[in-house]
Parts: sequence; C-alpha cells; structure tokens
Amino acid sequence: MEGPSVIPGVLYVVATPIGNLGDNTLRALQVLGSVDLILAEDTRISARLLRRFTITTRLKAFHEHNEQKMAPWVVEQLDEGMSIALISDAGTPLLRDPGLYLMRLLRAQGKKTVPVPGPSALVCALSVAGLPTDRFVFEGFLPVKREARRHRLQGLVEEARTLVVYEAPHRILATTQDMAEVLGGERQVVIARELTKAFETIYSGSLSAIAHRLSEDSNNQRGEFVVVVEGKPKVDPIEGAGEGAVTAEDQRILHLLMEELPLKKAVILAARLTGRKKNALYRIALQEHASAPQ
Ligand code: SAM
Repeated sequence: MEGPSVIPGVLYVVATPIGNLGDNTLRALQVLGSVDLILAEDTRISARLLRRFTITTRLKAFHEHNEQKMAPWVVEQLDEGMSIALISDAGTPLLRDPGLYLMRLLRAQGKKTVPVPGPSALVCALSVAGLPTDRFVFEGFLPVKREARRHRLQGLVEEARTLVVYEAPHRILATTQDMAEVLGGERQVVIARELTKAFETIYSGSLSAIAHRLSEDSNNQRGEFVVVVEGKPKVDPIEGAGEGAVTAEDQRILHLLMEELPLKKAVILAARLTGRKKNALYRIALQEHASAPQ
C-alpha cells in the first residue's frame, strides 16, 4: 500500500483492530506498510493481519518476556535511522500490553515517538456503557486468585468513579460474583463481550442480576470481556444508607422470590422478610427484570 513517507529514527505506536478488521485505520495501514520493521507481540497473529492487507514489512517478536532485552537494541536501530512500528495482538499497544519499558527508555533519551490511534476495548466499551466517562478508573485485569481479587475490590468500594476491568472467559463469572458481594449487588454493571466481532453482546443490569445471568448459561461466559461498573452511588437522601441499605443477602432473597412470584408480590414479601424499604427493593427488582434475557 502506498503510504506517506515515515520519518527515520521514529517509533510509531500503532493501534490495530480488536476483532473487526474494518476498524484498521487508513493511517495505521500506511504506517505499517512504510516502516522498516514492525515489532509485534505474537508474530503469527500479526502476520495474518498484515497478509490480509498485503503488507510485507518485516516482523520481529517483542513481548513481555523479551522486552527488556530487546529495548536497547530497538534504540540502537532507531539511532541508525530505522523507522519502526510497535503493535500488539489487538487494540492499542501498552494498554495492558507490552511496551512500557521501551517507551520509558525512549522518553528518558528524548527520542521521537508517534502514536497512531485506533481501537481499544477500553474506550469501545465505555462509549456504549451509559455510565459516566468524565472520570473513570481502569484496573486492567483484577488478580487471578480469589482472595487477592476480593482484596483489590475492597479497596475500590468507596471509589465514586466508573470502574473498568478486562476479564477472561474462565473468570468472568467469579469476578462478577465477587463484585456483587464486595461492591454491593445493586450496583449497575455493563458487560461488553466480543466487541466488534460476530457475537458482540452488550448488556447491563445490577451486579447481582448479571452474575446470575452469567451463571445460568455458560455460553454467556465465552469470549473476551470488558466489565464497566458504576462508581459508588451518592447516598440517596430518601432511602439513606448504612443500616437501612439493601445488602447483597437482601438481594439474593429478592432474587429467589422473583423466580417464583410475580414482581410486585416478590417485592412485598422481600420487604417483609428483610425489613428493607419496598421502594428500594422495587427499583432493584425492576433493574433485574430489565436485564433478564428476553
Ligand atoms: N491492548 C488491548 C486494547 O487496547 O484493548 C487490550 C489487550 S488485553 C491483553 C486483552 C483484553 O482486552 C481481553 O482479555 C479483554 O478483556 C479485552 N478485549 C480485547 N478485545 C476485546 C473485544 N473484542 N471485546 C471485549 N474485550 C476485549
């Protein structure tokens, strides 16, 4: 592909699609087709992408296991006038992908770097979540071990900003269950699954309802996930918080009743069993109802 001439001695940080190849930007293709070398996380994955666009630029592996060893060599090549692009398996490099060590080295030496922006699962999910994006926290992947994950979530209980995490298919259920228990089952969550791909699914509801939905059908647990959670809600002056607040256990009771009874009856009975306000339970019931599979 004909491209603009790239500048010698510059590292281009190029975003690539997170699923749909149509999301490759024209500029990304031009740069990838024009540089002398492409550093890629997994050269087999990137070779497929490049073949698709008949780009023949040489690829070299650059991943978390060889980054520190490779970085000084990359700097040398740039000093000798090579133009180099850095890509990852999907999305924007450095966003939970390799490159930080190299970038620090380049910054420290005042070298020129050029970002070539494009897709990222983080921004893609936020753009449809319907939760505040003026302030958010990105936690990457939560710890794999349950205790550590819950500990990390404990530290986020008071966080008022929208929370975004990446999650793998084999942990999505456990993570949403832990979130429901630690952050409170009534918090709103948006699950963005397989973004830009054939089985893209975006759905939302309370954390307890979504955890339940995921547990009911293992098909819902397949694919790649971004989880976007509402920050700690401001205290509702009518319902208050503390002792009167609806707990995860109250929600579990409501949920069980909703499985057997019409919504209104379930709410009335749940209010009697838990001592919580009907209004609060009713709102949660409506959210669960809205997020249930149609
Ligand atoms: N650099 C990438 C980016 O800009 O989004 C993220 C790389 S990170 C190693 C991979 C994680 O991103 C996946 O486990 C998943 O949580 C998320 N992810 C990547 N592609 C996705 C997609 N198409 N749909 C949903 N989540 C995705």
